[in-house]
Amino acid sequence: MPVLSPLTIWFICGVLLTCFVFVAWLRTRRQGDEHIRCRRCNYRLTGIAPEQTRCPECAALFSHHAKVMPGERYLDHRWRTIGLVALAIDVIGFVIPFVVLVIYQASGP
Ligand SMILES: [Zn+2]
Repeated sequence: MPVLSPLTIWFICGVLLTCFVFVAWLRTRRQGDEHIRCRRCNYRLTGIAPEQTRCPECAALFSHHAKVMPGERYLDHRWRTIGLVALAIDVIGFVIPFVVLVIYQASGP
């Protein structure tokens, strides 16, 4: 197996991180399945009493986080947070240094 240079490893990490950001972005936009679920933690709420105002799993108030109804399109906040953190790491650690490197090499002798 050939020895990879640190630059190559960094480049591969950047590409993998970009792929992960894309997957997280896809997972952020979800469609509900056949169950009523908690909007905050995705806990299945089928069978709980209608007068219950909080999620039994994460204690989210249903007045603040409306239940996700079967088949409803909604944003998954956990994946959105994961995606935004990964995107920030990707831009700061990979995209900006890569652009700087390209400009630096283009302006070289
Ligand atoms: Zn919940």
